[in-house]
Formats: sequence, structure tokens, C-alpha cells
Amino acid sequence: MFTDGRSKKVVFIAHCLLNQNSISDGTAVYPAAFKDIINLFMDNDIGIVQLPCPELCCLGLDRGNVYGADSEVTVENTRIRREMEKSETQQKLKALVDYTMLQIDEYTKHGFEIKGIIGANRSPNCGVETTSDNDAEICGKGVFIAALWEEITKRGLSIPMTGIKGSDDITEKLGKFL
Ligand code: SF4
Repeated sequence: MFTDGRSKKVVFIAHCLLNQNSISDGTAVYPAAFKDIINLFMDNDIGIVQLPCPELCCLGLDRGNVYGADSEVTVENTRIRREMEKSETQQKLKALVDYTMLQIDEYTKHGFEIKGIIGANRSPNCGVETTSDNDAEICGKGVFIAALWEEITKRGLSIPMTGIKGSDDITEKLGKFL
């Protein structure tokens, strides 16, 4: 089965790295996407799965920050984290985690290689090595990635994860995922 032209290799990538239009007001780095990331995985025949944007899906495109780019990022990120922790938002978040796990389970079941999950460091949702809380960038995972990681761990899966930021050298950071 699946012995056709496909590589059977996929990588899961934070939504906004492929679509900057989803990101919170004042924080987009590029007009459309991190092209280096797309090119890196395309050049190596690794299919890209775009993760859902938890903030867009749970809070809306307008996250409710009237100050936009004038806000201190970590302060706004902390406010967003508090919004994500509300019980009504948690239900929506769970649906996104389930939607993602369904895809991970399917690729795993059929022997595809999941090269990794690429998050967005400092994000209150998609941070992997760092996230935001208490108005600062701190070590730890964002709310969405933490919930996803819990499900991955429960299943005993081993999927490498890392987060990137606009200032990172993409090839150096993601070379190990090829
Ligand atoms: S880091 Fe995650 S929650 Fe934030 S904009 Fe990107 S995809 Fe959405």
C-alpha cells in the first residue's frame, strides 16, 4: 500500500510559519511565509502538514489587542495565554489537538516517517523550547504544544520537536529533521 510516487515522509509545522496572515497583530515577520522552511523540506521531498493555528481557531484573527505592534510581545503573549486557559477555550483547543492526533495516528499506522513537529518559540501556544508567561519569555512549551505532546507521549510515540524564531538560521536549526 502507498507504493506510489510519494516519499512517505512528513513534517508538521506551526500554521503561521507557512501563513503569516494568521499571526497576532504586530508580530508578522514576513508577508506570507518562512520560505526557507518550505524550500528546505520541499528540496528533501518531505511533505509539509500545516498545524492548525490555535489562536486563530480559538480566539479569532483579532486576538483582542487594540495596541497591535505597540504592545510588548511577551506581555500580549501572556494575556493570550490566560485567554487560552479559560475552560471554554480549552474545549476548542482539545478539538484541534484531536484533529492533529488523528493525522499523526494515520501516518503512524501506515508506516510513514514523521520527521518532526516544528513549533514557534516564544509563542504562548506553539512554543517548544520557550514560551511566554508572566510577561517574559520562559523555558517551556506553549499551551497547544504541551497538550499535543501529552497525547503523543500517551501513545508512546517518539517524534522530535523543536521551535524556531525569525532570527534563527533555518538550515542549522532544522537540518537534523531531514
Ligand atoms: S504561533 Fe501558533 S498560535 Fe501563534 S500564530 Fe503561530 S500558529 Fe497561531
